[in-house]
Amino acid sequence: MKAKEIDRLKTVLSYNILDTPAEEDLDKIAELIAMVCEVPIAIISIIDDRRQWYKAKVGVDNDEVPVEDSFCQFTLIEDRFLEITAVQDDERVKGKPAAQGVDGLKFYAGVPLKAPDGHNIGTACVASSKPHKLTEKQKKAFELLADQAMTLIDAKRSNQILGDELKTILDRQKSILKKSIKQKESEFNALIQAISLSNALVQFNPDGTVFEANQIFASYLGFTSEELRGIHHDELLFEEDRKNNNAFWESLNQGNFKSGQMKRKHRSGKEIWLLATYNPILDSEGKVFKIIKIAQEITSSIESRKALQKAKDDAIQLNIQKDNFLANVSHELRTPLHAILGFTKLLLEEETDTIKTEYLNAVKTAGDNLLFTVNDILDLSKIESGTILIEQLEFDIHQLIHEVASFLKIKAVQKKISFTVEIDAEVPKWIIGDKNRLGQILINLIGNGIKFTDKGYVKLKLERVRENTSQVILKFRIQDTGIGIALDKLSVIFDRFSQSDEKISRRFGGTGLGLNISKSLVEKMDGTIEVSSKVGLGSEFSFTIPFQRGQQPIEKSKEAAVSFTQSKQVIKILLCEDNEINQTLVKTLLRPANFDLVIASNGEEGIQRFQEMDFDLVLMDIQMPIMDGYQTTIYLREKLHTQVPIIALTANYMLKEKQKCLELGMNDYLSKPFKKEELFEKIYLWGDSVNKKQLITKTEEDQAAEAPVDLNVLKEYSGGDEAFEHEMMQMFIGQVEKWKTAMDNHMAIADFKNIADSSHKMKSSFSVLGADTKDLINLEDLAELEDIDGIEAVYSRVKQYLKIVIPFLENKMKK
Ligand code: ADP
Repeated sequence: MKAKEIDRLKTVLSYNILDTPAEEDLDKIAELIAMVCEVPIAIISIIDDRRQWYKAKVGVDNDEVPVEDSFCQFTLIEDRFLEITAVQDDERVKGKPAAQGVDGLKFYAGVPLKAPDGHNIGTACVASSKPHKLTEKQKKAFELLADQAMTLIDAKRSNQILGDELKTILDRQKSILKKSIKQKESEFNALIQAISLSNALVQFNPDGTVFEANQIFASYLGFTSEELRGIHHDELLFEEDRKNNNAFWESLNQGNFKSGQMKRKHRSGKEIWLLATYNPILDSEGKVFKIIKIAQEITSSIESRKALQKAKDDAIQLNIQKDNFLANVSHELRTPLHAILGFTKLLLEEETDTIKTEYLNAVKTAGDNLLFTVNDILDLSKIESGTILIEQLEFDIHQLIHEVASFLKIKAVQKKISFTVEIDAEVPKWIIGDKNRLGQILINLIGNGIKFTDKGYVKLKLERVRENTSQVILKFRIQDTGIGIALDKLSVIFDRFSQSDEKISRRFGGTGLGLNISKSLVEKMDGTIEVSSKVGLGSEFSFTIPFQRGQQPIEKSKEAAVSFTQSKQVIKILLCEDNEINQTLVKTLLRPANFDLVIASNGEEGIQRFQEMDFDLVLMDIQMPIMDGYQTTIYLREKLHTQVPIIALTANYMLKEKQKCLELGMNDYLSKPFKKEELFEKIYLWGDSVNKKQLITKTEEDQAAEAPVDLNVLKEYSGGDEAFEHEMMQMFIGQVEKWKTAMDNHMAIADFKNIADSSHKMKSSFSVLGADTKDLINLEDLAELEDIDGIEAVYSRVKQYLKIVIPFLENKMKK
């Protein structure tokens, strides 16, 4: 075969069209060619090395002919349009089988189908068993249509190539994808495998049933993996948790991820805790097809956390109990101490017998010492609990040093040693800080100096270290020529309960708390404390504290005291105190002055007394039976709405308690045991200022005070008819009696509705008479709130008021 023919065949094969099914568009072209050429037969065929194969045809039955029998082989040879108008005469074709017989072909025309590479892959031909000849137009149209057929075949081949390419690409992509899915799958499985080695792993169906659980998970719950298979998640929960489980699974089925600490039921019924995540896995359509749960058991850590919390709560509770215990101990110790010290002082003032005075002084010293120890222990507990508060108030440091020195001077004189104070001229007078705590430190350090010195001196030096406009740093040095402290003890001297020598402690007494408390207090004030000492020569304790600078405050108490002595008013005092000794003590202390003292043994009695008469001041013990000082204060302030000054007499050394007193509406407090001067100072301060206020209001209200009802109101109703007025007053008095009986009955059975109704009715009678209706409105409100205590208090106030109103009206009627 010639090389050219081989190339042509390659082109034919490249179309891959042989023996393919018929195609409508090519069939239509064949039909068109037959029509245009006005012949019965038209064929579009492909010719390979052996046969002419008909791709599209009109007017013939067979599908192919061998190439040697074909007419079209000559069209290919001709390589252009070939027309044989008389087949029977044409040497090339007259012997071919198609030309034989009566119906043999008489006419043939063909056009080669030329591929873009120049090779003819086949032909388009027409034929007829009748003689025929194509017109020029038909020939032209035939050629055009053949051309069209070739274009179509070509386009199909291009499409096919494209399709094939696409397929190869897609196949390649598919295989890459397959590979990566496979890889992902194996990664996922490895991951699950790894997770399940050290974690509990369960796979759930979307309905919540387990389809696989690993051994770790099963063992958490006391099952085997097999036993868990098919179990619903509900069965792993406690009854009370099941009601929310539906919603939980609905949410998981919406693809929501869940995690957290979960409580589960062990097979034995005990509680276990899991830290778990629920991971919904979606299928290709985005629907959840399984849920993988990964979990770890955390029961023991939850239990230890719970135990820790409980221990913490217990500790807080214990601390509260400790606080209460200390408050109570403080009360129990300080109340009798208060009595002992107070009476001793009174006896000392009056005693002339030297022996007795000496004994009394011994009692006083012992009492003072005991008070110091109690205070130390309470301070210590406060320091320990961090509840110690340092006040920031203005005070005169020179005055404080003076007070401390005069207090300690006596002790030094008793020991026949000298005690001197040196204050640098630069030390300012007014500073801001905690005067009492500073005094406490000084008393402790100077007291120690005096205690541990038998001859020589104790010296307090106060120096100004530095000063600016707002701050001054002061250094306090306490030097003594006492027994000194051994070097090895110096480092532990500030430790709690430390005493440098047992023999010393036996000789000098003490608890070993003072220095520890002093150091804590100094540090609380942002200061530092130091010691240097030589055995046999003496010691120097020094501390440095920064203070805010102050300005001289207005001395209110003194002003009050002065104005009181000038006003010479009797101050009416109500003392609420259950302890008889303390009652007597206050009574004795107040006796010489111009006071009017009424004593109530508990809060309830105090309230009764308060409602019976006017008071300028209330001294209120805190711990009392029936109604304590807090409850009584609340009652006075909230139920009786009185602003009378209330001073708490607290044996409680806790600052918290003092704050509570102020928060509840008390005006001031005095810590027991208090000195006579302190008590007087508070009474002058609070009792007198109110007295002055009351004096003014009384003068303004003088007239009103005389007439408990506004008679003008009734006058307006009567239009001056006195007989009518008397009738009204008479009626009112009758009504009041009935009302009181009714109220007593209603109150006895706490019939709040009738209390409100009858008070409401009474209100209109009150207003006609011009009487004060305020408390009747109060009664209505209180009945609404079902506050029987409040009702009782207000009702007794109304009765009190009526005790003035009725005689007043009766008096009017007589006139
Ligand atoms: P105490 O109540 O025992 O005095 P402190 O804490 O105040 O407790 O003192 C602890 C110990 O430090 C004392 O017992 C004493 O041994 C020693 N000490 C304190 N101050 C002096 C001092 N000025 N001279 C000698 N020893 C002192």
